[in-house]
Amino acid sequence: MSTSLKKVIILAAPSGAGKTTITKYLLERFSRLAFSISATTRAPRGAEQDGVAYHFLSLAKFEGLIYQNEFLEYEQVYEGVYYGTLKSELERIWALGKVPVLDIDVKGAIQVQKQLGDKSLSIFIMPPSIDALKERLLHRQTETPESIQTRIDKAAYEISFSNQFNKVVKNEVLETACNDTANLLIEFLGPDFTK
Ligand code: 5GP
Repeated sequence: MSTSLKKVIILAAPSGAGKTTITKYLLERFSRLAFSISATTRAPRGAEQDGVAYHFLSLAKFEGLIYQNEFLEYEQVYEGVYYGTLKSELERIWALGKVPVLDIDVKGAIQVQKQLGDKSLSIFIMPPSIDALKERLLHRQTETPESIQTRIDKAAYEISFSNQFNKVVKNEVLETACNDTANLLIEFLGPDFTK
């Protein structure tokens, strides 16, 4: 696969819809996919390490990078908390001959899609229902009742953007959703991608 293709896969979903699990599945199945490590101003959770899940930056550093036009997109996903995709991160992955997978919020996904057009495939992972989403968030050890409510409120809003995505995958049965998403990637990137 030529590095000049410079394609990206974008996965977005309400928090708790199974996006992280599906992303992990895709990364294990396809050696030519690479996780795009976003920058964020939020604090690390649990055992998260800098430069693995995220580049954890101070607000001043993040704003400096905005000023220097270093982001392909960035959003305040939660009030006062920035997340963004660095252009240098995509270049790093393309230079390895790989395809970045962006696990980002809905607005960021639409931004990337606008900029990269048919070089990007955007997939919205749809939770089976808001109730199912709440159940999943309650089972997470890291969430407080307030953060669960914030995420639920946001979910309904995010679902309203799903029709702007190239594809929607409903995550009712995780295994099926993983396979459906994998098939969309193969369709977009071509059969050579699986070699
Ligand atoms: P969390 O704090 O749970 O890791 O992520 C919160 C939300 O921020 C998730 O929806 C995640 O996909 C999104 N997010 C992570 N990285 C980025 C990014 O680079 N840009 C945007 N716009 N959203 C991101």
